[in-house]
Amino acid sequence: MTFIPPELPPAPARHFCTDCGVSRTAAPKRCGQACQFIQPDYPGLEQAVHGRSRRLPSGAEADDELFFGPHQRMLQAALAEPLAGAQWTGITTRIAEKLLQNGEVDAVIAMAPHPDDPWRPMPVVVTRAEDMAGCRGMRMGYAPLIALVEPALAQGYKRLAVIGIPCQIYALRALQPELEREQGLQKLFVIGTPCSDNTTTERFHEFLALVSPEPQDVTYLEFRADYHVEIRMRSGEVKALPFLSLPLSQLPPDFFPMTCRTCVDYTNVLSDITVGYMGGQGQQWLLVRNDRGQHLLELLGDEVLLKPPGSAGNRVGAVKGFLKNVERAASGLPLRRMPNWLRPIVSWLMPRIGPRGLEFARARVEMKALETMVHLQREEPARLKTMVPEHVIRLVRPYGLAEPKPREK
Ligand SMILES: Cc1cc2nc3c(=O)[nH]c(=O)nc-3n(C[C@H](O)[C@H](O)[C@H](O)COP(=O)(O)OP(=O)(O)OC[C@H]3O[C@@H](n4cnc5c(N)ncnc54)[C@H](O)[C@@H]3O)c2cc1C
Ligand code: SF4
Ligand code: SF4
Repeated sequence: MTFIPPELPPAPARHFCTDCGVSRTAAPKRCGQACQFIQPDYPGLEQAVHGRSRRLPSGAEADDELFFGPHQRMLQAALAEPLAGAQWTGITTRIAEKLLQNGEVDAVIAMAPHPDDPWRPMPVVVTRAEDMAGCRGMRMGYAPLIALVEPALAQGYKRLAVIGIPCQIYALRALQPELEREQGLQKLFVIGTPCSDNTTTERFHEFLALVSPEPQDVTYLEFRADYHVEIRMRSGEVKALPFLSLPLSQLPPDFFPMTCRTCVDYTNVLSDITVGYMGGQGQQWLLVRNDRGQHLLELLGDEVLLKPPGSAGNRVGAVKGFLKNVERAASGLPLRRMPNWLRPIVSWLMPRIGPRGLEFARARVEMKALETMVHLQREEPARLKTMVPEHVIRLVRPYGLAEPKPREK
């Protein structure tokens, strides 16, 4: 199925914006209340969506809700029969397909590949279960997903499912009461994926050109939890490159936009179910956040294989090393690079002794929180007070970054 690009007004210029779609609606001023980057209220929205905000540990006791947000259960998961074209095994699009098949929703709003560039995300409204297959796979970039919600409601699709990344889902949840009150939204299921290190599709093509001599033939790319990037080629060839061999130092400093260097919700805490891979040890990783999320999981029946997630290794050293490099890069200093002879050894060791499973996911969430603080402290210190929620402050405190540092001259 090839989808047709939706007709939408152009996005007005906005600082700190990932074009989630709100600015392209008939009431673009709602960005002020709906934007993750302006004055987010995570505890308030968590309460509204899940009936409670995340547990923040008191004292030294550990609680994974600090890292991953409210959840009832976490699981390692895989579809017994992985779906062709899916990013992992296709749990995300299969849940949506089931909702349409069962008649539980009138439409699903998700991203499909743009007909001119399969790496470019394009928002679509899907009403036939068989068309969900056309949304499988990950695209790099942003596209105005939320701009399609009100047109879908106006067309009479009052029971919706939305698949999105955290900055899109924040805006959707912030607008949900208004959509229910004024536009007749009757039912909403949210299937979220984690998201990090996104950039524009144009910039992503620059990255592809660095990792492959035939970038036009790359059909799939994924950062795996075993410290490798998997690349699949049109010819069927599959390559796994160790993170350490990636040409990251050749990327320009603004390769990742400030939004994606400073966003505060890695794991999509306002979704009903989050479908990622970070805590999955080579499989998918599910966070069932509320009863609607549990219902979504149950739709898969015995198509899905489930087991409890594991956790091994210790993240602290890796996170501290990451922080040093982020601070160097933010100060314009070259990254501390490992000697070439050492790289294959460390690349072999990392999946074996580095943080694995949930510990890997905790490490990534802490790294993202530290990155947020370093970049905001240096480049947008005024936003620290309005943009950074309490849980991020708590995540960075053990690394000495909780209090704003004066900007270096
Ligand atoms: C930019 C980006 C970064 C990510 N980073 C991480 C990460 O660091 N850690 C992690 O655990 N998971 C991450 N994910 C999620 C992960 O890649 C898988 O998409 C997810 O685990 C679902 O796999 P699946 O096989 O169930 O998906 P599929 O069934 O193949 O469905 C993929 C779904 O993703 C949606 N989608 C694809 N591209 C985009 C996009 N650009 N914007 C919004 N929605 C999109 C589509 O609507 C589709 O429904 C990221 C996803 C994206 C889009
Ligand atoms: S990300 Fe969305 S809510 Fe925020 S400024 Fe951009 S369009 Fe508005
Ligand atoms: S990294 Fe954050 S800001 Fe960037 S696209 Fe993903 S969720 Fe949005």
